Amino acid sequence: MVKSDLDCLQTKLQLGISKCLLGEKVRYDGGDKRLSFAVNDLSPFANFHSICPESAIGLPTPRPTIGLYQTDQQSVMMRFNDQQIESDIDHQMTLFCQQIMSDLSNLCGYIVCANSPSCGLDNAKVYDNEREHLITLADGRFTACLRSYYPWLPIEDNLRLANPDIQNHFVIRLFALQRLNDLNRHGLTRHALLTFHSRYKLLLLAHSQPLYRQIGPFVAKLDQFDDLQAFFVQYRERLMTLLSTPATKENHTNVLMHMQGYFNRYLTGQQKKSLTDTILAYRRGELPLSSPMSCLKTCLEQYPNSYLSDQFYFTHYPKALPSIDNGVT
Ligand code: SF4
Repeated sequence: MVKSDLDCLQTKLQLGISKCLLGEKVRYDGGDKRLSFAVNDLSPFANFHSICPESAIGLPTPRPTIGLYQTDQQSVMMRFNDQQIESDIDHQMTLFCQQIMSDLSNLCGYIVCANSPSCGLDNAKVYDNEREHLITLADGRFTACLRSYYPWLPIEDNLRLANPDIQNHFVIRLFALQRLNDLNRHGLTRHALLTFHSRYKLLLLAHSQPLYRQIGPFVAKLDQFDDLQAFFVQYRERLMTLLSTPATKENHTNVLMHMQGYFNRYLTGQQKKSLTDTILAYRRGELPLSSPMSCLKTCLEQYPNSYLSDQFYFTHYPKALPSIDNGVT
């Protein structure tokens, strides 16, 4: 038996989100950008920590539009697009970001609102000082601060999350970091860390073989760390960097073949061939990942193996999470 959904998390996902994505009418035009994936799909599994940076610095709704402007080669500043309006919103936003960041340390991820000068992710427009030319696309001010303060944190925006592969990849990272944060909060032990890593091995292998080969020797040196928290900090960075690499069909095929090896001695020649054919059909794109996964789960039911059944590869997030196939396509 694979571990049940109840085993997936000790606590709900602690998920940061741009307030307008929850349907709150805080945008400059008095509207919102309600994101169904968050409001409907993730909400049973998440505690949302919603922030509207522009409201937080005291701006009203509705409000005049804001933009990012390159003032010299080095600096980008935030100001109202109407230059007649005098304000120090650039300074206020800087102060707000500095003050709020330390409150976000328990988050396992963040969903930001695309294109916003405050919340955009790589897609906020930066103009020249006269607003005649688009200079570049960049992070919004809040998002830039978030990324710099928490470089390991999974961050996506509402537009990118319309892509099922990106959505799936994001959710895998959310659950991994939440589980790791849970360990840290509920009393970190060497045994707990080793167990966590062991249960993630096959999923890590599916995401990056080179980084998997690096993180293993690092974990093997756990006993050399007197300070467990120092190990945790480095492990978290390595783990989340590894998982930020999207899984591939080739890597999944290796993992599936590896798992098949655990059952070969129990299977008839015909059963082995059938399982191999299913895995290779997935590899060729003729079947979804769920097909060989389902075959392997059946094998696991018949021939229990505690190492495999503990693997988060099978249950990296709850099956009940709607709209996502519980596995990388
Ligand atoms: S994009 Fe960010 S700043 Fe703009 S309304 Fe949404 S939460 Fe507020």
